[in-house]
Amino acid sequence: MFDSKEARFALDAVRKAVELVRQVQREMVAPALTKKDRSPVTVADFAAQAVVGYLLGEEFGDDPLVGEEDAGELRDAEQRGTLLQVTQFVGRMVAGATPEAVCRWIDRGGAEPAARFWTLDPVDGTKGFLRGEQYVVALALVVEGQVQLGVLGCPNLSDGCRDEIDGPGSLVCAVAGEGTWTTPMGGGKFQRLRVSGRDDPAEARLLRSVESGHTNVESIGRFVRAMGIEADPALMDSQAKYAVLAAGAGDLLLRLLSPAKPDYREKIWDNAAGSLVVQEAGGRVSDIDGKPLDFTQGRTLAANRGLLASNGQLHDTALKALKST
Ligand code: AMP
Ligand code: MG
Repeated sequence: MFDSKEARFALDAVRKAVELVRQVQREMVAPALTKKDRSPVTVADFAAQAVVGYLLGEEFGDDPLVGEEDAGELRDAEQRGTLLQVTQFVGRMVAGATPEAVCRWIDRGGAEPAARFWTLDPVDGTKGFLRGEQYVVALALVVEGQVQLGVLGCPNLSDGCRDEIDGPGSLVCAVAGEGTWTTPMGGGKFQRLRVSGRDDPAEARLLRSVESGHTNVESIGRFVRAMGIEADPALMDSQAKYAVLAAGAGDLLLRLLSPAKPDYREKIWDNAAGSLVVQEAGGRVSDIDGKPLDFTQGRTLAANRGLLASNGQLHDTALKALKST
């Protein structure tokens, strides 16, 4: 099922990026936490984007990469120490990596979306990464505005859906028309994922961001009451939420606009891989007005507001409830 050159590349690139990010976490996060130091996430972000940028250049040299990071500041003299750290990690995966080459590989991700492009979030859920909770490496291929392939590297999810910190981790991948599948990060059998069949809103399990600044907690409270959902929302960082929904371990996922940032628009790399993962598992994804996600608008989903993903069964009821909240 994942026998295209694109799928093999994406699985390999995400596996390698996750391996590096895990190494950064093991070696840098614990000592930095007491100082509220964000440098581990900076190093992990840059190292992961450099590796994917390098591998993409080898396999699909003409394909643009739209990544979250760019090496602009990393080239400044005062960032030299960080660049050397990033280069040291990348060198474990790509023999002979130099600081100059690492900057070039990162800057491959500065491309604009085109008819065919890849989009990467090298560390999605940076707060989760720093807390030692959920984060993912997310890579997707978009062709003519349609997500064709999405891979979520989930180091702290087992079987594509269970919270297991420092477990084997999962790759969760979807190919348009071929379903959503998961396999252990280190290799093994692929298992198909399917959304739940739950249609009683009272029993629904709702997933949302941990960070209150990334959503609207009060509106979510009103939504929960309007739907009659009995359980408290499950809080989880990153596109790990989409994997959990695709595996049937959650039924609804909401991204609402934070009152502090009413004009915020979703970034394509925060949603491309995750949205295909949910759809190919039988679920539905739209914005909070019910419109399909429009990946032809550049680096953001400028034509959409927020996001609703569901098992399909609960989607229309949820859209109605959103109107009243
Ligand atoms: P989550 O872990 O679900 O909160 O999603 C993490 C992503 O939220 C990050 O990758 C950011 O790109 C994105 N983000 C940052 N600020 C906001 C915001 N104000 N509203 C929604 N998402 C945001
Ligand atoms: Mg992100």
